Amino acid sequence: MVARASNFAGSASGQGEDRSVVLSGMEFFRPADWSDALAVKAAHPDALPLAGGTDVMVEINFDRVRPAALLDLTGIHELAEWSCDGGTVRLGAAVPYARVISELATRLPGLAIASRTVGSPQIRNRGTVGGNLGSASPAGDAHPPLLACDAVVEAASVRGVRQIPVREFYAGVKRTVLAPDELIAAICIPVARGPQQFAKVGVRNAMVIAVSSFAIALHPDRTWVGTGLGSAAPTPPPAWEAEEFLTAELIERGLWDAPARWRTRPCIGSASSWRVRRSRSTTCGAPPRTAVTPWLCWPGARSAGPGGHTRRSSGYARDVHRKRRARRRR
Ligand SMILES: Cc1cc2nc3c(=O)[nH]c(=O)nc-3n(C[C@H](O)[C@H](O)[C@H](O)COP(=O)(O)OP(=O)(O)OC[C@H]3O[C@@H](n4cnc5c(N)ncnc54)[C@H](O)[C@@H]3O)c2cc1C
Repeated sequence: MVARASNFAGSASGQGEDRSVVLSGMEFFRPADWSDALAVKAAHPDALPLAGGTDVMVEINFDRVRPAALLDLTGIHELAEWSCDGGTVRLGAAVPYARVISELATRLPGLAIASRTVGSPQIRNRGTVGGNLGSASPAGDAHPPLLACDAVVEAASVRGVRQIPVREFYAGVKRTVLAPDELIAAICIPVARGPQQFAKVGVRNAMVIAVSSFAIALHPDRTWVGTGLGSAAPTPPPAWEAEEFLTAELIERGLWDAPARWRTRPCIGSASSWRVRRSRSTTCGAPPRTAVTPWLCWPGARSAGPGGHTRRSSGYARDVHRKRRARRRR
């Protein structure tokens, strides 16, 4: 059953002048199940889907979009579920970041690390990976790990379901290849079989849009290294040459056949290695003080608290603050 709200219109007067303002009508659909949602989208292709609303409501509040209709997907419980079958996680489009962090950090470490860097706890509670894909902003934090994992977007309409490799999903700045009657049902992501990492650089430490971001995932089962870049092009691209180089390098050095060598190598380093990473982000042209680089050991993903920062990244922040204070004193 679809709940449908009536249009609204209003009038206002301001500064002595009788100014009539007619708010543009906006239909509001709230389907209770998936088939209803698809039927509404087929009948109203211009209806704007609404998941967590953290992008849509901002756009409406700033009057950047005024859709003829809103299609509220929050009542569809299938969209807010995930399952794991045959080595692939099927992540419902409306699963929020907070649940990716708390429930999927071991299976999808790259996406979980990226999710920890999204907005604030409130945004992570509401915002969804499906919404990030729907917005298709080049700076979206879910895109790099999805590219690095070679994820597949499951798009559905009354005509059926189709699988779209995420590398073919983006059509331009904030545009996707979804047809007007299609909705994102889920994202299918292979369970991690090797180390994964995500790093984001912005103008400050939290609540920040990526100036640059990068994800990498090693896939020993496919002897392939996947990557993804954020804020680097109109659509989030993989770093093709890096993928080729790293895959070849690991083959050449026989590291795919001896995974223990890279699995057991300490990947969280001393202060000096943090300095190296920081200076690398600086040389990329990013502001030096804002490297957000939570790191994940493999095997055994370290879990982070709901605040989204790993113990070591907080240690890193403390280190940076201590040095800044020392510099000010001098
Ligand atoms: C204060 C603040 C901080 C933020 N920080 C970050 C950040 O650090 N990193 C980051 O990446 N983003 C950030 N965002 C942006 C936003 O939170 C994310 O893009 C989030 O993933 C959007 O998800 P949502 O569920 O809220 O999407 P919504 O706002 O509901 O929808 C976003 C778009 O996706 C479409 N859509 C949603 N669901 C579907 C579906 N099932 N099928 C088809 N289309 C669909 C909508 O129509 C819309 O075009 C921030 C936003 C705010 C307000």
